[in-house]
Amino acid sequence: MQSYVFPGNLDPSIAAIGAQPIPYMRTDEFSAVNKASEQMLLQLIHCTGGRTIIYTGSGTGAMSAVIENYVSTKKKALVIDGGSFGHRWWDLCGYYGIDAVHYEVPFAKDIDYADLEARMAAERPDVFLCQHHETSSGQLFNLERISALCRKFSVSLVVDVISSFLCEPLSMDAYGIDICITSTQKGLNIPPGLSILFFSKALDGYPFARKGYYWDFETNFSNLKRGQTPFSPATSIYLQLNARLKQLMAEGGEDKNIADVRHRCDTFRALCRKYGWEVPAEVPSVAITGFQTRDMDRKVFRGLIEKYDTFIMPGAVPGFYRVSHMGLQTDAELEELALHIHELESQA
Ligand SMILES: *Cc1c(COP(=O)(O)O)cnc(C)c1O
Repeated sequence: MQSYVFPGNLDPSIAAIGAQPIPYMRTDEFSAVNKASEQMLLQLIHCTGGRTIIYTGSGTGAMSAVIENYVSTKKKALVIDGGSFGHRWWDLCGYYGIDAVHYEVPFAKDIDYADLEARMAAERPDVFLCQHHETSSGQLFNLERISALCRKFSVSLVVDVISSFLCEPLSMDAYGIDICITSTQKGLNIPPGLSILFFSKALDGYPFARKGYYWDFETNFSNLKRGQTPFSPATSIYLQLNARLKQLMAEGGEDKNIADVRHRCDTFRALCRKYGWEVPAEVPSVAITGFQTRDMDRKVFRGLIEKYDTFIMPGAVPGFYRVSHMGLQTDAELEELALHIHELESQA
């Protein structure tokens, strides 16, 4: 099987952990694993003196946790809605009755930052919700500019970095981000099942709300102080996370991983030019390539599965596909993938 989705092709040594016997988790050994994972995660995202919560639950669970515990303590949110993941922030605000400003950005377009500034000046939100990389289109937003606006208007910044962590340069310290969210099946490229919240030191002692039992920050913090989780963890994935983090640190940290992702991306984008597939994103992230083919009836998607046991992701627009660069992939594998897509798209 070849996988260009989330996760992509796994490192065999990480995958093998999933087949091992599962140890009991209420032990000092498991606590030590989680304490070590927390320190490595904080280092990789540059969050000095910060804290994490590692949940058993997908990324949307952690987004929901942020709304329940944090955004609900604020007066007004501003939501960047530039695709299906931005729209999820908006949906969550509606679900929890949060007063929010809907800032819509057209598909695959960058934010008009001058217009955003005017909107912030007029609306005066006190918390800002966005994605770093809108995975549905491949568009990367400019965190430096967003961060400068949040500082100017004293707005707390919360960023969903689920598909940019370890793929794009990112520093919570430099951008003054209060909370970041990621999950295991994206940049970390291990099985889905865990999501991670990063809290800046500025939030130490913050009076969080308590509006959802499972995701409650205080309950999770008090257990994580000793490396434990309040409820049954997906033990194997916590062990895979720890092994993957150790591997990342040993290989040269986030810079080496970002360089690898960028190389795969550059290789595949050159193939897109060769076969005439346009990349619509105004500022495309290297994490994935979203590209427009001439295939209007999912021949490529189905053909890849049926003929080649290969997975890529369809998008919202006919003929638009996404290939993730977060998993392991060689130049030769990408050349073969592009050739197969080209052949399938050309079939009548
Ligand atoms: C994958 C992803 C999510 C989370 O989706 P889940 O299905 O809950 O894992 C959220 N935001 C972004 C930007 C993503 O790429």
